[in-house]
Amino acid sequence: MQRNLILLGPPGAGKGTQAQRLATRWGIPQVSTGDMLREARRAGTDLGKQVASVMDSGGLVSDDLVIALVAERLDREDARKGVILDGFPRTLAQAKALDALLLRMGRTPVQAVAIEVPEQLLIARLSGRRTCPGCGASYHVEFTPPHSDGVCDRCGSPLVQRDDDRAEAIAHRLEVYARDTAPLIDYYEPRGALRRIDGVGELDAVLDRITKSLDVQRDQ
Ligand code: AMP
Repeated sequence: MQRNLILLGPPGAGKGTQAQRLATRWGIPQVSTGDMLREARRAGTDLGKQVASVMDSGGLVSDDLVIALVAERLDREDARKGVILDGFPRTLAQAKALDALLLRMGRTPVQAVAIEVPEQLLIARLSGRRTCPGCGASYHVEFTPPHSDGVCDRCGSPLVQRDDDRAEAIAHRLEVYARDTAPLIDYYEPRGALRRIDGVGELDAVLDRITKSLDVQRDQ
């Protein structure tokens, strides 16, 4: 069965973490537009240069640009069994473009899971987040610290704070989410394609809620 899953939710809801875990469990790729854009920046491509300042401020890059990235990614061999989309779609235009794309490719329509987390906790999670520029691992200074302060457990690189995890950018990202992305819940829910789950708690417990919500969805 092909599975095209979207993880929806505000920044800090845990979409990336859970997408990674689901991807491992189901053997299908995690497709994160944020990761793809950060990779373009690291590689110093024209695209990377074009999106740098808007990303650092916590704004959204243009719909056309991310839609093209996702279209190209879905076309690759390893995405044939499905994908876990994380951070895409983020606007109504992106959601509609994704539906059209899947239809055109003869693929299974999307299922969406909205991960719900109170705003205070989102801010605490984002402001304490540290990431590894070497291998992409993610830590939290308080909740999931590395063994040795400021150093990645996996590859030994010094950890960094993403520019968009600084206080001003966090506030902007939460506003952008409320304005542009939260309406997607009303896009998917009326057609029975969306489940809401509580994103507070242990990682395994949240993962369990996600998979259970999808089993319920399949049986209905
Ligand atoms: P993320 O890692 O998903 O939080 O994404 C980091 C940043 O990349 C966002 O704040 C946006 O600037 C940009 N970005 C990622 N995905 C999208 C998208 N689907 N649409 C527009 N901008 C995006």
